[in-house]
Amino acid sequence: MEKKEFKAESKRLLEMMVHSIYSQKEIFLRELISNASDAMDKMYYKALTDDTIDFDQERFYIKISADKDKRTLTITDTGIGMTKDELEKNLGTIAESGSLAFKREHEIQDGHDMIGQFGVGFYSAFMVAQKVTVLSKAFGSDEAYQWQSDGVDGYTIQPAEKTETGTMVTIQLKENNDDENYDAFLEEHRLKSIIKKYSDFIRYPIKMDVTVWKKKEDSSEDMESHVEEQTVNSMVPIWRKNKNELTDEDYLNFYSEKRYGFDKPLTHVHIKVDGTIRYHAILFIPETLPFNYYTKEFEKGLELYSNGVLIMDKCPDLLPDTFSFVKGMVDSEDLSLNISREILQQDRQLKMIAKNIKSKIKSELKSLLKNEREKYETFYQSFGRQLKYGVYSNFGSNKEDLQDLLLFYSSKEKKLVTLEEYVSRMPEDQKVIYYATGDSYARIEKLPQTELVADQGYEILYFTEDIDEFAIKMMRSYNDKAFQSVSSGDLDLNPEDEKKEEVTEDHQALVTEMKTILGDKVKDVRISKRLKSHPICLTTEGEVSIEMEKVLQSMPD
Ligand code: ADP
Ligand code: MG
Repeated sequence: MEKKEFKAESKRLLEMMVHSIYSQKEIFLRELISNASDAMDKMYYKALTDDTIDFDQERFYIKISADKDKRTLTITDTGIGMTKDELEKNLGTIAESGSLAFKREHEIQDGHDMIGQFGVGFYSAFMVAQKVTVLSKAFGSDEAYQWQSDGVDGYTIQPAEKTETGTMVTIQLKENNDDENYDAFLEEHRLKSIIKKYSDFIRYPIKMDVTVWKKKEDSSEDMESHVEEQTVNSMVPIWRKNKNELTDEDYLNFYSEKRYGFDKPLTHVHIKVDGTIRYHAILFIPETLPFNYYTKEFEKGLELYSNGVLIMDKCPDLLPDTFSFVKGMVDSEDLSLNISREILQQDRQLKMIAKNIKSKIKSELKSLLKNEREKYETFYQSFGRQLKYGVYSNFGSNKEDLQDLLLFYSSKEKKLVTLEEYVSRMPEDQKVIYYATGDSYARIEKLPQTELVADQGYEILYFTEDIDEFAIKMMRSYNDKAFQSVSSGDLDLNPEDEKKEEVTEDHQALVTEMKTILGDKVKDVRISKRLKSHPICLTTEGEVSIEMEKVLQSMPD
């Protein structure tokens, strides 16, 4: 039997594959299952164009079996199979994709069902295998062949026996070592969880022999087991179903199954976009703050699927920072992935999806605010700070997006209000939006400065978070109404300049005396016209308020 060497460049590529392209060894199973699924899709396409072939859905499945004694794992499919030539061409040359060729040959335009196109996935098997055996019988052929390789030295092909059309890939696992316990890939629960994680939505059943334990019928204590064949994958992803087929419960289950969070999400958005870019997505707005949300450890991102196959756990590029709290997934057929499927090569489509998603989140939040105020306030309690941070961090460029999502406590309403609500209530003579800063609503209420403004019948927004004032400084104005702190600058309420002059002269001595006592602690001491029942207040000049100064001073250099 003749042994053939891999082409030189293939050899190098193979080294690279095994050692560095993929981030996790377990994805070999995803790749082999994807190939099996592609092989059955090819039968389906053939049946579409050839009346003599009858595509009987029942006959198509993938079977995963583990042999613990032999330490082998076998992936069997009932797909189109490979001829001797095809084994040679597709598996003998790395980066040769029979699936891509098939798509071209059959002019499958979108080819949206088929997964393969890079011609390298198969070789990921060598991350865990010391030897791979492929036994295949091509559709329409009477002969079967066996391809075998230990990865480095090359491969052999020889005639073999196989009754059914299709392919069996058998992996002889590597010996265990200190870093890796390859035997783990023979464990039922491990296999199940890998299949669930990456290949849950493969459209063909993925079957496994599963040990089922149950109580013996005679005695109540003893357990007995039997082996039964189960379908491990759920096949139809929830996001491909129609919204009206699904209940809130279904979305909740999906949320907890996916472990997006331990809480219950406040609401979900189910998106189907079928335009220049096509994708499905389910997004969740969580209720509670993840414990590490405002720390560096927090990683934002959505799960990314390419045509039902999981590519990435947390794709950060899909979510703007402002909405980093959103959980969920995106599935698109239109992504151009690079060979490893782990790094997205060209992100134009991704950017388009991200942009689209951003606006969907925005409108969902708006509608929550409008229609389910209580829920929105719960959300805002957790993530309002993030929205304000969003306004601040991009030099106000997010203003248009976010300004109507902000809530502040109102002196008049004694509850959170939107800027729109504030402005709609402004009396005609009121020119600016007033705010006051402090540690708590109660303390702000007691500020001398708030008294005069409130006396005029003007509403004041109470800022109790560090970020509040920074955010509105970035916004500058809302609806052409500037923001004005009750504590800084001249408030310009009923100017009574003459009175002020008089008082100043009268009390010149007092002012001078106070300046001497306070020395460097203050810049100036002035007689104020903004006090009513309080004798004194502190104020700042310019843009930076006392509260902001405190924050700035507490920041590390
Ligand atoms: P890709 O799937 O990206 O094309 P792979 O390295 O995963 O690349 O596989 C290479 C080629 O080998 C496939 O395109 C296909 O033609 C062939 N192949 C692999 N596995 C199977 C299978 N189970 N049945 C039929 N053909 C297969
Ligand atoms: Mg493949």
